[in-house]
Amino acid sequence: ALFFYLGVAVVASNLTAAVQRQAAAARQRARTTEDLYLFSKKLAGTGTLDDVLWATAFQIASMLKVRVVILLPENGSIAVKAGYPPDDTLVDADIAAAKWAWEHNRPAGRAADTLPGAKRLYLPMRTGREAVGVIGLDNDKQGPLLTPEQQRLFDALTDQAALAIERIQLVSDVDKAKLAAETDRLRTALLTSISHDLKTPLAAIMGSAGTLKDFGADIPEEARAELLTSVVDESERLNRFISNLLDMTRIGSGAMEPNYAFHFAGDIVGTALSRTAKIVSAHKLNVRIPADMPMLKVDPVLFEQVLFNLIDNAAKYAPEDTVIDIRGWQDGGSILISVIDEGPGIPPDDLERIFDSFYRVRKGDHVRAGTGLGLSICRGFIEAMGGTIRASNRSDRPGAIFTVRMPVPTEMPIMGEQE
Ligand code: ADP
Repeated sequence: ALFFYLGVAVVASNLTAAVQRQAAAARQRARTTEDLYLFSKKLAGTGTLDDVLWATAFQIASMLKVRVVILLPENGSIAVKAGYPPDDTLVDADIAAAKWAWEHNRPAGRAADTLPGAKRLYLPMRTGREAVGVIGLDNDKQGPLLTPEQQRLFDALTDQAALAIERIQLVSDVDKAKLAAETDRLRTALLTSISHDLKTPLAAIMGSAGTLKDFGADIPEEARAELLTSVVDESERLNRFISNLLDMTRIGSGAMEPNYAFHFAGDIVGTALSRTAKIVSAHKLNVRIPADMPMLKVDPVLFEQVLFNLIDNAAKYAPEDTVIDIRGWQDGGSILISVIDEGPGIPPDDLERIFDSFYRVRKGDHVRAGTGLGLSICRGFIEAMGGTIRASNRSDRPGAIFTVRMPVPTEMPIMGEQE
């Protein structure tokens, strides 16, 4: 009986020990799985490449008890992008091993078949598409760096990291593609409008000038004057178009520095009107700007260009013999100037979009020459001077209203500063 019980006790204690070992291993696995889950959750919520790399380096270092560097491709080679501990630098042998691992998509460096002289072991991070980078590992122990168990854990961690890196790179690729498509769209729009807006006046100028040159002497005085007027008018149109394009590039490159000075709104409207006199000659003008309105602190050249574009549009889109109203008034801390016409107005859906570059309500409408640049220049100039501009429609009858709102200057003009 004694031997029997002894036998049972030995078997039972062995079984208990095995169960305890299994329980410990299961607990360890559960912890690892939870860590992996938390890591994947962290990666999913990370939007920048730096954060993904840092989180990966930290996770691998803390779970596998190793030192980590992560290298990503850069300008045809591969460079360190993150590390844990962070201050790691690579010697030449390591850089060669990392490069080899990257180029051949296989392990290299310490304890590997290739370049074993390197301090670290370099392993490629792979996705279904390709290797996205290389991870270098080392520790202070001798012998193999990772046990088979750790190798599996490492694979799981790098797979997730590689996917997250690929996701971020794809997003940035899509952004770049979008930008390229947008630039392309602008270029096409520019080319289309240039071919129309440059060619039409040029053809007219060439035609008129050619006729004058060849048949000048035989043409009656009146027809000659008409041809000359057409040359001048078309040249002016060309000039307007080219200055619009130049203004646009100034706004686009951010190279616009308004030259502020104090001015009466009435004065700037007056200069704009004298420039537009020919354009609005077939319309009736009604200017109402109170003399006691506070002065504006603006760049007179830019502000005048805005008014010019608005009045030009009103004359272009409203039929002849209709009234163009120019009103100024003060509303609390703002000075407002409106250009109101009796044209067809603007479709409600387009009230914002007409301020986009190259946007025209009636596409391909070549009856009224235009580029879709005028209003975007207006918005660019006014916003550069700290104001706003918006479009609306009249409520009493069809017609568009463009309203510029500028802040009343906080300081008063110093005598003599006003021009
Ligand atoms: P462009 O006049 O050269 O086409 P703009 O940027 O000045 O370019 O104007 C953009 C579009 O807004 C115009 O094509 C036109 O459809 C619309 N628009 C501008 N001003 C008026 C207006 N006063 N009345 C009706 N539509 C207008």
